[in-house]
Formats: sequence, structure tokens, C-alpha cells
Amino acid sequence: PLEQLDDPSLLRSQALINGEWVGGSESFAVTDPATGRELARVPNLGRADVESALAAAGNALNAWRSKPAKERAAVLLRWQQLLIKHADDLARLMTAEQGKPQAEARGEVVYGASFLDWFGEEAKRVYGETIPTTDPTKRYLVLKQAVGVCAAITPWNFPLAMMTRKVAPALAAGCPVLIKPAEATPLTALAAAELAQRAGMPAGVLNVLTGDSQRSIEIGKLLCESDLVRHLSFTGSTEVGRILMAQCAPTIKKLSLELGGNAPFIVFDDADVDSAVDGALASKYRNAGQTCVCANRLYVQAGVYDTFVEKLAAKVAALKTGNGFEAGVNVGPLIDEAALQKVETHVADAIALGARLVVGGKRLATDAGHFFEPTLLADATPQMLCSREETFGPVAPVFKFQTEAEAIQLANATEFGLASYFYSRDVGRIFRVGEALEYGMVGINTGLISTAEVPFGGVKQSGLGREGGRQGIEDYLEVKYLCLGDI
Ligand code: ADP
Repeated sequence: PLEQLDDPSLLRSQALINGEWVGGSESFAVTDPATGRELARVPNLGRADVESALAAAGNALNAWRSKPAKERAAVLLRWQQLLIKHADDLARLMTAEQGKPQAEARGEVVYGASFLDWFGEEAKRVYGETIPTTDPTKRYLVLKQAVGVCAAITPWNFPLAMMTRKVAPALAAGCPVLIKPAEATPLTALAAAELAQRAGMPAGVLNVLTGDSQRSIEIGKLLCESDLVRHLSFTGSTEVGRILMAQCAPTIKKLSLELGGNAPFIVFDDADVDSAVDGALASKYRNAGQTCVCANRLYVQAGVYDTFVEKLAAKVAALKTGNGFEAGVNVGPLIDEAALQKVETHVADAIALGARLVVGGKRLATDAGHFFEPTLLADATPQMLCSREETFGPVAPVFKFQTEAEAIQLANATEFGLASYFYSRDVGRIFRVGEALEYGMVGINTGLISTAEVPFGGVKQSGLGREGGRQGIEDYLEVKYLCLGDI
């Protein structure tokens, strides 16, 4: 598929440092999770490269943060337009390295690009304050200024959107960025960086560092240790988030962490069951179940339980699994063998503990690729692994509950607090449950909640800070108080 790019120069096999494409002396392979084939090799960077990128970002800082916001916004807007213009190629690169179906990949390009115009516009609205004085000889003013050089570490499940959701607010605020994309999916980030170059991004303002899983750890350490880096944004597992937080403690960095979830999806007796079935399907099986906001636990009230399971089963059975480039495919491969094994373990554990297998349940019998059948399990219980851990695969366990209080208690019984969902047509219940769920985000009568204009993020061990929305730029700004005397 990559031979068919309209613009072959978007397939980059170099990293971007100080506005230049650099090769480095070592490289690692990027492979297609649907076929196992090697797609390209990209640089396996080390300490010297990170240091030169840090120096470049440091050198670029003053000129970039001193530009009028409108000029930074203009670069972001041109970049956004180029991403849309090259949406087909970006979607091809994304499906090739990540596996998601073409329709979803195109959707991600539009979503990913939307953070650039959103934050480009927000850059112009970074307002300060004047505070009424308590001393007639003084005046109190508040400025908001760029925090400085920023670092971002992104996961493989949204290769473009996780990049733009971090770099757009940083760039809008006036901060140069070093980004380390996931080792499984660097090609989309490099293509996006090529388009940023074409949009007129000044040298050193956007740097993309690539490394394999081992080097990613080393690069992460260097970024955390650097005093120049004032903010680190990370999306990935809670386990790695905890390591990065500890590594940032010595330099007291600001942190934005978007970590694991364990999203409950509750269907009450008064719900529109057909709508809930569609919502569950969209929330659970999108990206083959590999999103941090995917429904992980489906709680269905006794009165609609059998109907819900039956209707969802019919839709899950109709999903087509296969290579994301094939027409009509809804569920692509999982990212790697480890992901497949985790899904298998969760399914086997659930069945051993009494769950009923309704649809799917095993790997696809293919020669290559990491495919798992879209799976539905009924009669799940809190003892099962799938109740406690994020499955990150196309498996929906359904639990039966009796009362609203029980549903809330079950939903909140986790150390995570990212996304949650519930279906009800009762306005009182909508407020009660919406307020009681200990989550950063609540989808009510919908399974899809992400958009650039809203604050995305979690509570508890799901993270710190919010990305997107009016709030998303705040993490990249320092508040400075000016006290003017002798008036
Ligand atoms: P996932 O479980 O989604 O693969 P990870 O948390 O393992 O998430 O990885 C997300 C990102 O974090 C990737 O870019 C990966 O290279 C990077 N990463 C993983 N471990 C570390 C680490 N110890 N230090 C810095 N970055 C890391």
C-alpha cells in the first residue's frame, strides 16, 4: 500500500532535528501488524541526537515565544490544511503501521488536524488579568507566558491525534517541542512533521525523535532529566506514567499524563436499548478495542439484560475482521503479539470463572497478522481480570446488575477514572449518575465523546491535566504576577 502514496516524499525514514532530516548511525524496522511485513526503517537515535534536539529547541525558544500569537496560529493553520490535503496518504501510512481500517484512519486525520486550528485560535485568547488593588500605590497584573521547551511521548493507538493534541497547544502557547512517537508507529508522525516543515515551522520548534523500545526508555530518561525541558506530556500506560513522573521529580517538571482507563458502560432499564447497543459497538470495537476510552466493562440492568446481549451479539457477529486496507473491514489487527496474548488471557480467565462465550473468543486463523475475533462474553463477574484491567482488545464482557446504587458502586470500583458511559432516558437519573461517576469524562446516551473542543482527561490513576478544549493550553502556560509600585 505504501507504493501507492500520492506523495511518496511523505514516507520519511529520517528523524527531524533542528529543521533537518537526520539519519543517525542505527535504525529499526517498522512493521505492518496485519501482515508482519517490514514497511520502512527509521533512525534509532541516542544521547547525542537528543542533546542536539534539546539545544535546537532551546535556541528556537525566544524567537518562537516572542512572535505574535497570530503568527504562530498562521503556521498551525497552514499545517492543519496540509494534513487535510494529504489525508489519504496519512491514512494509508496509519493503516499500514497501526492496522486501523481506512475509514477510521481518515477520521483520525480529520480529528488530529482539528487540534491545530483549535489551538491556533486559542493562542490568540491567552488573556492575563488585572486584579483590583488593596494598596492605592500599587497595581497587580497577571501575565501568562510559555512554560519553555516541552517534551511529548505518544502511544501507537492514535499515531496522529496523540501527536497533535500535545504539540498544538505547546506550539500555540509559544513552546518548542521534542516529540518521541511510539516505536510501532513513527511513520505517521514523521509524515506530519514533513507537512509541518512545508507549513513554515521554524527550525528547532518541532523536533521528532525516533527510537526502538529500548532507546525510547533512554530518550525518555534524557528528556525527563533535562532542566531545559519544563513540561512533559505523556499518553500511555499508568505503569510508564508513574516511571516518568518519578523521573521528572528531580527537575520539578510540569506534567500532563493521560494514562490507562477501565471504562464502565452502564445500560439502565429505562435506556433506549437499540441506541445503547450501537453506542457499545462504537465504543468497544473501534480501533479493535485499542483506545483508552473504549468501554471495558458493560453493566446492564436485569430488565433489559437478555435483550441487550442478544441484540449486541447479532451486531458483533456481523463485524468484519481483516486487513484495514480491505473494503468493508470494521476491525483490524491488534498492534502486536503481546496485545493478542493479553486478550487471550482475559478471555480464558473469564470463561474459567464462569462467563458465557456468546460470540468470537479466539485468534483468526491466518498465516500472518495479529487478529482476534470480535468477542462478546455474558455473565461476567468482578473477580475476572477483564473487570479489573484494561483489555485493550475487541472483547466486551457483560455484567448483570439490579439497582442504580449497585451500578455506581461497581463502576467506581477501580483505581482508574478516565471515560465512563451510561444510557438512560430519566432526567433525574442522568444527573444523579453523571455526578456520582468518579471519572474525568462521562458519555450519556453516546459511546463517542472525543473532539478537540472539550477537556479530555482522567482522575485517580488515569492521569493529570486535560488535553483539548479551552483548558488544554493552560498546562503550557506559566502564570506570572507583576506588582507595580510607586503609583
Ligand atoms: P502502551 O501500553 O500503549 O504501549 P506504553 O506506556 O508502553 O503504552 O508506551 C507509550 C509510549 O511510551 C511509547 O512511545 C513508548 O515508547 C514509551 N515508553 C515506554 N516505556 C517508557 C519508559 N520507561 N520511558 C519513556 N518512554 C517509555
